[in-house]
Amino acid sequence: MAEAMTIRPDVGFIKDVLKSGGGDLKKCYQCATCSVVCNLSPEQSPFPRKQMIEAQWGLKDRLLADPAIWLCHNCGDCTSRCPRGAKPGEVMGALRNQAIQHFAAPGFLGRAVSSPKTWPLLFVPGALVFGALALWAPKEVTEPREFANVFPLHVLEPLFFLISGLVLLAFAVGLARFVKALRSAGANGAILAGLIPAFVEILAHKRFKECGKEKNRYWGHLLTLWGFAGLAFMGTVVGIGSMVGIMHTPLPFWDPAMPVESILKLFANACAAVILVGGLILLGDRVLNEEKRRTTTYFDWFFLLTIVGVVFTGILSEVLRLGEAVTAMYAIYFVHLVLIFALFVYAPYSKFAHMLYRTVAMAAMGKR
Ligand code: SF4
Ligand code: SF4
Repeated sequence: MAEAMTIRPDVGFIKDVLKSGGGDLKKCYQCATCSVVCNLSPEQSPFPRKQMIEAQWGLKDRLLADPAIWLCHNCGDCTSRCPRGAKPGEVMGALRNQAIQHFAAPGFLGRAVSSPKTWPLLFVPGALVFGALALWAPKEVTEPREFANVFPLHVLEPLFFLISGLVLLAFAVGLARFVKALRSAGANGAILAGLIPAFVEILAHKRFKECGKEKNRYWGHLLTLWGFAGLAFMGTVVGIGSMVGIMHTPLPFWDPAMPVESILKLFANACAAVILVGGLILLGDRVLNEEKRRTTTYFDWFFLLTIVGVVFTGILSEVLRLGEAVTAMYAIYFVHLVLIFALFVYAPYSKFAHMLYRTVAMAAMGKR
């Protein structure tokens, strides 16, 4: 005789999924069209039909420990073919957002970054830190005017290294909780061994290419990811080089006496341009497409606008510096620093975290 199974729905979880982008979840009548049309869905363990019923039943623990929710790249193929308008692609996105919040450390930051009610407050800590720096830190005023005259590099560099360390710690705790949940749900793949191949696949965006629709998203994501990786690499090299005294900051646009610094500056500007193009493709895709605009959640907007804002204010402050518009240059650079602070500090709780959770899930599933 078959064993009876008791289902304990988590009503609060259902409400959270409905609120965070899965508002049409209950329209699903389990026809399975979505699983058939999804190019990324594996034959042995197809999604997203199963996740739709589990979400309707409020099976929180099972869904948050399900690596399949991270194999979905939100291409929208299933959403456009669903005969009931249940938007399975958006439900999968809402489940990923819930997972990030659930595993976040500390939890209150996970909830704050996902809530539109708190968004202005998220920028207050950065504004206070850089406001205090501009007012009180010791400065060495040089001509021509540099950002470092108001925001001294000998304070900014160690500050961002400290922030990076705390962010890595928060990521490590969140991902360790995720791995524990995967293990207890039966994932027995060699996660450590699978990390590098999964990461390489994400960098190459191979699975994005398999989506039938949304070719623009492929380019938008690819450019943003590569530009960001380039800037992170460059920032780390320059930060360490400057702290050990083998590199001089701020980097010159071009100075034959400082060829390494000049090349790094050119590389940084190229990366910023690549991110801007990628971010504008993603933004334009959501702004110009009415259906997309309606289904884009606050969680998506927060990350996208912050990253575009960082690059835009970075380029604008450089232009103002070249034009010697000193007051405006310092003001825009202040906004730039506040946005970078938000991008970094909230990375483990924003859409940025997708990249790492997805890497771990793919490693656990043995997906190549
Ligand atoms: S989400 Fe839509 S396509 Fe998928 S099973 Fe439900 S009704 Fe069918
Ligand atoms: S949104 Fe795309 S990748 Fe995600 S389940 Fe639907 S068809 Fe598959």
